[in-house]
Amino acid sequence: MNKNNSQIQRTKRTTLNRLSKRGHYDKKTLYSILDSALICHIAYVYEGEPRVIPTAFARIENDFFIHGSRVAGNIKALASGIMASISITRLDGLVLARSGFNHSMNYRSVIIYGAGIKVEKHEEKRPILNAFIDHLIPGRSDDGLKPISEQDLIDTTVIRYPLNEMSAKIRTGHPNDDEEDYNLPVWAGVIPILRQFGEPITDPKMRHPTPTPDYAKTYQK
Ligand SMILES: Cc1cc2nc3c(=O)[nH]c(=O)nc-3n(C[C@H](O)[C@H](O)[C@H](O)COP(=O)(O)OP(=O)(O)OC[C@H]3O[C@@H](n4cnc5c(N)ncnc54)[C@H](O)[C@@H]3O)c2cc1C
Repeated sequence: MNKNNSQIQRTKRTTLNRLSKRGHYDKKTLYSILDSALICHIAYVYEGEPRVIPTAFARIENDFFIHGSRVAGNIKALASGIMASISITRLDGLVLARSGFNHSMNYRSVIIYGAGIKVEKHEEKRPILNAFIDHLIPGRSDDGLKPISEQDLIDTTVIRYPLNEMSAKIRTGHPNDDEEDYNLPVWAGVIPILRQFGEPITDPKMRHPTPTPDYAKTYQK
């Protein structure tokens, strides 16, 4: 489905109906949003009813992965290869306009469509499971963690979604007010939303005097 290496081909499903100028289909933009997010929401139809579940994810090149207990309801359903729609949203600002109607939000969001493919081989699952850790905290999987056991691999289902049908939508900037409303003496503008991480809190059950690593002290995503 990829037309070339850097663009995702638009489909009927991924074509925006409104404000199409906010649509983006280049991998650089799409992947930067995915890589900056901590969780996704995955929607699917189960026994004829809509379901949506929040979950962690990882991206490796052109594949998106979710994982979970092999007995989790959503994981069992999704591993059977049914269609899913995955949503990732970063909220960047509240946009205060001169009319209630024109209030808005600045955001970056991605919607992915695809049917999941269960990753069966243990040697494939191992680096993918490490990618979940490193997606949240780059380098963490290589910092002396207990190795992933054969039992972990048996107990954990990993599902791959090839990233070949998706769209991004991005809103930036100030309110778009109606021309006559600019005369109103009401404040208008943007309240930026910044993500902040706190000071790491050491587990009181630590048995070795291990210093807090820099990646925890200076964590940013
Ligand atoms: C930030 C975050 C990250 C997560 N990451 C993972 C992950 O990587 N892997 C993983 O397996 N699970 C993850 N979970 C948990 C995941 O959302 C499910 O709860 C989990 O997969 C177990 O589902 P289940 O089999 O109990 O329920 P299912 O059988 O999948 O769902 C049955 C019903 O349980 C309820 N339910 C299930 N999950 C939730 C929920 N999170 N909140 C409210 N109601 C719920 C719903 O009503 C749903 O219809 C994460 C949750 C959060 C919030």
